[in-house]
Amino acid sequence: MKVTVLGYLGGFPYQNKGTSSYLLESDGYHLLLDAGSASLVALEKVVDPLTLDAVILSHYHHDHIADLGVLQYYRQLMPRGKQQVPILPIYGHTEDAFHFNDLTMKGISQGYPYKESDCITVGPFEITFMRTIHPVPCFAMRFKEKKSGKIFVFTGDSGYLEGFKEFAREADVFMADTYLFEGNEKHHAHFTSKESGEIAYAADVKKLVLTHLPQTGDLQLLKIQAEEASQHQIPVILADTHLVLEI
Ligand SMILES: [Zn+2]
Ligand SMILES: [Zn+2]
Repeated sequence: MKVTVLGYLGGFPYQNKGTSSYLLESDGYHLLLDAGSASLVALEKVVDPLTLDAVILSHYHHDHIADLGVLQYYRQLMPRGKQQVPILPIYGHTEDAFHFNDLTMKGISQGYPYKESDCITVGPFEITFMRTIHPVPCFAMRFKEKKSGKIFVFTGDSGYLEGFKEFAREADVFMADTYLFEGNEKHHAHFTSKESGEIAYAADVKKLVLTHLPQTGDLQLLKIQAEEASQHQIPVILADTHLVLEI
């Protein structure tokens, strides 16, 4: 599978960089994971948004869904000649009825529920879930590419949670919310660099990608802190717009 970062900042876009959004591709299938601010214009540079096959959302904070409405309008309004644009499946949890209901737009998109105990198949991927530590319901996701068995784990937004050591076990890529620098451990909403590195090491992942990054501060220091916490055993990469991960 291929994962392309479309946005990687936490909270709000800044200096032309968008918030959480990733494109997962396998066998010509295009799955959008979160739809943060500025993700639609970043997506356009990679694929035609009319060819998206599905969307899945970790939670309904604005920095993860800001461009969802305009994606629906894009598919509604963009001239496409004789091309039929299929109804877009959008997967989300149902613990917030207001936002879940917004996933369905008649003739354009259809909301599909997932819950923590589910294992769902979306195109070429099998996806399992884990509830995270966050002020609103949020779910981490473990994506398995069916044909290769490769594993991509996305934390969503989360404070430190022991369960990740098992949930991320031996992932080929572990993409972790790392909004905070070392020294802010046990936060109620996000990992620190130290926690991302420790979990990556404990879960024996093959690669750690730091995302949901802060707008200010020295990102190289964030990376160094994660590397130290991973005992220098795990390659650590900082997410950036249009970073491509071949998994
Ligand atoms: Zn967020
Ligand atoms: Zn959040």
